[in-house]
This record gives sequence, C-alpha cells and structure tokens, in this order.
Amino acid sequence: MRSPPRDLADRSMAASATRGPLVDTFGRAVTYLRVSVTDRCDFRCVYCMSEHMTFLPKQDLLTLEELDRLCSAFVARGVRKLRLTGGEPLVRRDVMTLFRALSRHLETGQLDELTVTTNGSQLARYAADLAACGVKRINVSADTLDPDKFRAVTRWGDLGKVMDGIRAAKAAGIKVKLNAVALRDVNEGEIAAIMEWCHGEGHDLSLIEVMPLGEVGAERVDQYLPLSEVREKLSERYTLTDIPYRTGGPARYVEVKETGGRLGFITPLTHNFCEGCNRVRVTCTGTLYMCLGQEDAADLRAPLRASPDDAALQAAIDAAIYRKPKGHDFVIDRATSTPAVSRHMSMTGG
Ligand code: SAM
Ligand code: SF4
Repeated sequence: MRSPPRDLADRSMAASATRGPLVDTFGRAVTYLRVSVTDRCDFRCVYCMSEHMTFLPKQDLLTLEELDRLCSAFVARGVRKLRLTGGEPLVRRDVMTLFRALSRHLETGQLDELTVTTNGSQLARYAADLAACGVKRINVSADTLDPDKFRAVTRWGDLGKVMDGIRAAKAAGIKVKLNAVALRDVNEGEIAAIMEWCHGEGHDLSLIEVMPLGEVGAERVDQYLPLSEVREKLSERYTLTDIPYRTGGPARYVEVKETGGRLGFITPLTHNFCEGCNRVRVTCTGTLYMCLGQEDAADLRAPLRASPDDAALQAAIDAAIYRKPKGHDFVIDRATSTPAVSRHMSMTGG
C-alpha cells in the first residue's frame, strides 16, 4: 500500500483537527470507530450470512489507502479506538499494510487502541504481525468448542485452525476475548463449558444475543436465546457479581467467583444501551452508519474521492454525526419475522 505523502496527510489531519471533536446532538462524543474492511468471509455463519451470499464487486470497495485516509480523518476528530472488522478482516489481501499504516496513530498517542474482530481462521498466520502493529487485544468469535457443531454453525469452518490462531495470539502477547452468539438448541447447553475453557486459558468471554440483521435463510426466532435466560441458568451453578468493568463497548460484565474470570453480556434486545453510545460504523464501501439498528447512513466515499484534501469528507462526517439517532428499536418475535435492518452484520461490521 502506498501511503499518501506524509506532509499532505499531516496537513489534512491538522486542518481536520481544527473542526474539534465529534459530538452528536445528544451530547455523546464519538470516540470509537468500527470499520468493515471487506464484506467477504471464509465462513458462512448461519445467523450472519445466507449460504449463497452475493458479495460486492471489488471496485466498489474502498482501497487500503482510502481506508487509511478515512480512519485517519476520524482520528483527527477525536476517535481514540479503532476496530477493523468485516466480513472477515484478515481475508482482505494485504490487510496488514493497513494495520501497519494505522499503527502510526498509536505511536503519536492520538489513538489509544487499534484492534480487530476476527473469526480466527487466519490468526495463526497474522498474530505476530498484529502484535508488532501495536494490537494488544482482539476479539475472536467462536460459538462452540465442538468441531462438528462449529462446522455446522459456520457452514464450513475448521475449529482446529481457530484454536491454533487463539494460541498464536496468546503467544504473541495479545489478550483474547472470545465472542459467542447464544443460539437456542446449538450452544445453549455448552455455555458453561465454553466459559470454563475461556477462563481457564485466561480469556474473557462475551455472549451476544442474535440481532435481526439481514436475511439469512434461517428462522431467527428459532435461533434467538435471550441472555437473561442464559444468565439465570448460569446463576444456578456460579456466583455472578456485576462489575463496572467496561471496554468501551456495550457489554455488561460480571465476575464469576468460581472461575475468577470475566463474562460479558451483549444484549441489544433485552437491554437498551443506546444512551452511552460512543461509536459509529463504516462499511467497506465507505458508508457511515450512525447506528447499527437504523437504516440512516451517509456516503463518505464520494467526498473521499472528490478531493485529495479532507474538507469535503469532514463536512460529510459532521453532517452525519448531527443526525446520529437517539437509539434503535430491535424486536424479535413471531409477528416481526422480517429483519429490523436489511443489511447483514458482515456489511456493517460486528
Ligand atoms: N468475521 C469476524 C467475526 O466473525 O468475528 C468479524 C465480523 S462478524 C460480523 C462480528 C461479530 O458479529 C461476530 O462475533 C459474530 O458472531 C457477530 N454477528 C454476526 N451476525 C450477527 C447477528 N445477526 N446477531 C448477533 N451477532 C452477530
Ligand atoms: Fe463470517 Fe464473522 Fe459473519 Fe461468521 S460472523 S459469517 S465469520 S463475518
């Protein structure tokens, strides 16, 4: 990846910074940007994608240079945490050059954290490089520790490779948090075992409720397992104590006395966490979504491509943040069988 000339990039960032931090009309500062670097993936998780997904033509995607410029424009406006996601971010060709370029903001102190959410399939290959780019914590998604179930949930994933990746990350000194989507009849009976394994290995675990995003060709109502139910079941065997621990995300954590580990609950459906929302998301085509659960969006690709300086881009970002909604209203029930939002999680980034 060719970086923009450093003096031009520096001048653009300095000019952008004069606009001040990004604060929405509800007084929430936007300090966390999640960027989907590709809509493609080497898995087809049943709740995330349909088996026969149509992916975007490559020319619609932002180039790695454009992704760097876009992220840097947000960093100039006070974003302190950057998460690359997808699709599967580590299947994007040369993605490590983007990590390397973005790590300069860690070095200058403008960015607190550069991180990634990954399915782990390519992690064994990239863990050391990620650590060298200043990545200190990552999220790895795995919903089961049973290889056959894993293959079924991901439609063709290899759990062994994911486990190799997790081991490589740990060996490289990266803190791993496992993310598992709670799925009725799939991992419902395995959650305690997953937690025991994670905590035994020194990993945090977050459980996620299925969100109604995109048609996936499966009955979402049947997949949906409320975390309130999971928590109740776990409480029969474990002592769960609410703790104020936060990672800048929506998870609410408990400490598990018996394992000494942390367990997070991400519950967009049973708990509304919008009031503290500090994040926005950009898709791999440069569309900015101000809320995961709403359709309103802003195109940043056109202003990005219109001019080599960032004035138009920053104006578009300001206009969008001004429209950031107060919250979302996801519902999953039998009367509401269509997705609340038509785009897939793999497009907006999880
Ligand atoms: N491919 C990477 C991965 O799986 O970690 C990054 C992208 S994935 C879209 C990010 C996270 O979103 C994963 O933890 C995944 O389980 C979760 N996810 C995907 N679709 C979801 C849905 N409909 N509801 C809840 N979580 C979902
Ligand atoms: Fe791919 Fe992640 Fe979606 Fe699974 S959840 S299909 S790994 S993008």
